[in-house]
Amino acid sequence: VRTETTIAGLRAHLKSVRSRAQTVALVPTMGYLHEGHLTLVDRASKRADHVVVSLFVNPLQFGPAEDLATYPRDLSRDSTLTEARGAHTLFAPSVKEMYPKMPEIVITAPALSDRLCGHFRPGHFSGVLTVVAKLFNIVQPDIAVFGQKDFQQSVLIRRMVSDLNLTVEIDVAPIVREPDGLALSSRNIYLSAEQRTAAVALSSALRWSAAQFAQGERSAAALLTAARSLLDGETGVTVQYLELVAPDTLDSVETAKPGDVLAVAAFVGKTRLIDNVVLGA
Ligand code: AMP
Repeated sequence: VRTETTIAGLRAHLKSVRSRAQTVALVPTMGYLHEGHLTLVDRASKRADHVVVSLFVNPLQFGPAEDLATYPRDLSRDSTLTEARGAHTLFAPSVKEMYPKMPEIVITAPALSDRLCGHFRPGHFSGVLTVVAKLFNIVQPDIAVFGQKDFQQSVLIRRMVSDLNLTVEIDVAPIVREPDGLALSSRNIYLSAEQRTAAVALSSALRWSAAQFAQGERSAAALLTAARSLLDGETGVTVQYLELVAPDTLDSVETAKPGDVLAVAAFVGKTRLIDNVVLGA
């Protein structure tokens, strides 16, 4: 796999790719790749001739008390993993390359960013949307692949593409999980053995409520209470939010219908984990 660290280098390379009439897919990541990221690469390979994976820990999307400094990074490992999955180009720019100066012009989504994760991570989604818009402009992909794991992020990106008439097609891939249900995350490496066991409560609680929905329960209050009691019963797990929302507006619903999303964020020790399930899926 070829690694480009500069915008000019990547653009020159992709120009020659496009001159051979090849289509380009982008998989934006923060690196320290796991099987969840790699399934995005697989999907990208099926949809385009040339797959670009970006690896960039974006400072703009981290809050001052968050884990920017300790976020795991390992370019040579990521390079081996993506090569094995048939990615063609890695884009691994430095912070200086992406932000020679702090951007004055940024993308914000005031209402949608005030919901779920955005409510607890002020500025986070503005940082995400701004870097994704930059990556779209740098790579000019035909298609970009994201994960359902970051559900609110996927909603915001689809909305950005629609509101700003961007030409990229957005594909969202299902969540890849450990055999016991824990959603794969680069942050899972922060968990001690005990915390790793406790962390299963997130997916178990969501699965339990989704099963209640499948059996006919339609009351959001009932579905949330069931999940909440499972989470609250797990020592070491502190729920930040647990909500049942409509998939496009992110508004809370009172009566659940297929396609609504049950989303959770919880701290396991100091590690903040997120997960979600689409009802009726
Ligand atoms: P990140 O490196 O955490 O920014 O994630 C990069 C992309 O991978 C995002 O679109 C995530 O939604 C996606 N992703 C992360 N974890 C998973 C997972 N367990 N299953 C599917 N996609 C994932």
